[in-house]
Amino acid sequence: MGRIVRLISRDASVVTSAIDARDIVSEIEKIHGTSAVITAALGRLSMAASLMGFGLKGKDDSLTVRINGGGPSGTLIAVSDSFGNVRAYVQNPIVEIPLNSAGKLDVAGAVGIDGTLSVIKDLGLKKPYSGQVSIVSGEIAEDITNYLATSEQVPSVCALGVLVNPDLTVSEAGGFLIQVLPFAEDTVIDIIERNINKITSVTKMLHDKMTIEEIAFQTLDGLEPNVLDDFEVSYKCDCSRERVITALRSLGERELFEMSNDKTTEVFCHFCKKRYKFNPTEILALTDK
Ligand code: ZN
Repeated sequence: MGRIVRLISRDASVVTSAIDARDIVSEIEKIHGTSAVITAALGRLSMAASLMGFGLKGKDDSLTVRINGGGPSGTLIAVSDSFGNVRAYVQNPIVEIPLNSAGKLDVAGAVGIDGTLSVIKDLGLKKPYSGQVSIVSGEIAEDITNYLATSEQVPSVCALGVLVNPDLTVSEAGGFLIQVLPFAEDTVIDIIERNINKITSVTKMLHDKMTIEEIAFQTLDGLEPNVLDDFEVSYKCDCSRERVITALRSLGERELFEMSNDKTTEVFCHFCKKRYKFNPTEILALTDK
């Protein structure tokens, strides 16, 4: 299980959401068989989706973050529900590139920097809300803060980290998102800047056995924060046979008749790798309403 905590400053002008996502990112590595740099990239994107999706108002709301920078990873997608549970997909799960000049996994090298990051919020309205920005760094956290500043006019600080073991398992994964509301005073912003400068890295703090709550408190140190939420989150796919049937039905009669010529029709979920099988009789049954 992962864990999300959300804190608010006493004057209610700053909110920090923080996530310990080691179990979620471990699941990503297991399901998709990702190489180290892709575990880091998809892990960071998933944490970002979770931190932004957590707290959407409706229980059926969802948030999708999609990035494609023209790099060897291809497109990466992460989808969060309003509880912060997340699922993810990457076009090319195995990318082997050298470490970057800082000796770290080269996420920007895998994702690429020539492309866009988009966020789609499905709030149960007729048309989902969507915003898109050009990639600024390809390291993801910076791209998220750029998106929030540009598309949603919310100044924010985002940190996302994934530490991968030499055997490709996940050692630590965590991140935080500090969002500053428009009425925040300059002194509050100064305090946050001071706090951020003191923070090393989320994965290092987690590795040093700090809890995600302690890390979140550190970001709002001096602002007398209170805990708003504290939830367990996990890698969770909402696919089901019923949903697959709805999707198949939408293909229309002609397509279904054609499919019924195959001995087995197999539908594959890209997020959790589950396979749904249908025989010709079952496919034909979908043609009558
Ligand atoms: Zn699935």
